[in-house]
Amino acid sequence: MTKRFLLSENEIPTQWYNIVADMKNKPLPMLNPGTRQPLKPEDLFPLFAEELAKQELNETDRYIDIPEEVRDKYKFYRSTPLVRAYGLEKALDTPAHIYFKNESVSPVGSHKLNSALAQAYYCQKQGVTNITTETGAGQWGTAMSYAAKAFGLELAVYMVKISYEQKPYRRSVMHTFGSQVIASPSMSTKAGRDILTKNPNYQGSLGTAISEAVELAMQTPNCKYVLGSVLNHVTLHQTIIGLEAEKQMAMAGEYPDIVIGCFGGGSNFGGVSFPFLRHNLLDGKTTRFIAAEPASCPKLTRGIFEYDHGDESGYTPLIPMFTLGHDFAPAHIHAGGLRYHGAGSIVSQLKKDGLMEAVDIQQLDSFKAGVLFAQTEGIVPAPESCHAIAAAINEANQAKIEGKQKTILFNLSGHGLIDMAAYDAYLADDLSNYELSDADIQKNVGKLEKIA
Ligand SMILES: *Cc1c(COP(=O)(O)O)cnc(C)c1O
Repeated sequence: MTKRFLLSENEIPTQWYNIVADMKNKPLPMLNPGTRQPLKPEDLFPLFAEELAKQELNETDRYIDIPEEVRDKYKFYRSTPLVRAYGLEKALDTPAHIYFKNESVSPVGSHKLNSALAQAYYCQKQGVTNITTETGAGQWGTAMSYAAKAFGLELAVYMVKISYEQKPYRRSVMHTFGSQVIASPSMSTKAGRDILTKNPNYQGSLGTAISEAVELAMQTPNCKYVLGSVLNHVTLHQTIIGLEAEKQMAMAGEYPDIVIGCFGGGSNFGGVSFPFLRHNLLDGKTTRFIAAEPASCPKLTRGIFEYDHGDESGYTPLIPMFTLGHDFAPAHIHAGGLRYHGAGSIVSQLKKDGLMEAVDIQQLDSFKAGVLFAQTEGIVPAPESCHAIAAAINEANQAKIEGKQKTILFNLSGHGLIDMAAYDAYLADDLSNYELSDADIQKNVGKLEKIA
């Protein structure tokens, strides 16, 4: 009974997978927010490193080489283990075979580093000296801080205020890596000041923090902005997860019937899924792909498909996406990385075309799943990852009801060792679920202009 599958250094994939090249229905074009014309790479050059802007709009190259310098840094922690969750299977008494890809072993504790290293590399290569970004729970800010240091860049991070206060240790980690951290909304940008004027007690959201980081990048010489999710190039970098998992599942002698990832903006879900989805698109496989989102921020299950901005102030391109509206203020659940109003354009198109599914998970169910996983597999999962675990448990229980052996793969996007305040609250019975009425949802999506 092999429990853990690893690749040797020369088996680690040397290219990322660009699923857009294989999609029959390409995502609708992103639009320049000023002209409303389809976005060209040049439109993105002021904000993003040129190579990243080109990757963002690349619809033709199925595979994109991972630069040598990035592969060198990947070797610090890749391949990550694929693990058969025998302990969890036993506790559930299920005929299902459950595997997880353990991205929590990266130096910063989550999958985010896979894209952070790539983005820092392309910025440095172009001669950029400063970068700005936002962070919700602090995972992306932490990953970007380490990556910036690794490639000699100065980084300023806008951190959602509620997390800045609730998760002081992620802030400490960012400081340790040498970056500057600012609670958002802040008075340092027009976007922040406008929001604070309207609502002085606003606890922040990813949408607001993105506006602030974009604004600072536009005003600082030789500075670019980097984003931790949602965009196509971020998900592209994350496909290293699924590409490795594909080889590791083969070592285990299995192929997944179901692939699951938790869902914030879609990067770890897309990362684990797209390399397998490729075989549905091209080779007639029938794997199911399930995005697990929080019931308090249900863009895929209850949002609408429309053009919307990626940020609160409307600085970013218009993205064709499943969205709850860019000024939707999600409840303060502990899975901070899932508190985002929209989904990336690729995932949104795949969902629209029925090539993937989505489920929503209540906060208490997510922690219940996380505690069971910790007790059976020995890893305390990130509150975000708990959503994927809850969805995997639901599928394993369904397999038991049907009396069928199914092979389930989920991505363990990160560990929760810096989120123990959230576990304390759960164990003390201090957490609640959040109900969102149709009227609450309509209030925000109703304001969106119809473009799609
Ligand atoms: C950021 C984060 C997520 C959500 O982001 P995606 O882009 O949807 O993957 C999930 N899990 C962890 C641990 C995170 O840090």
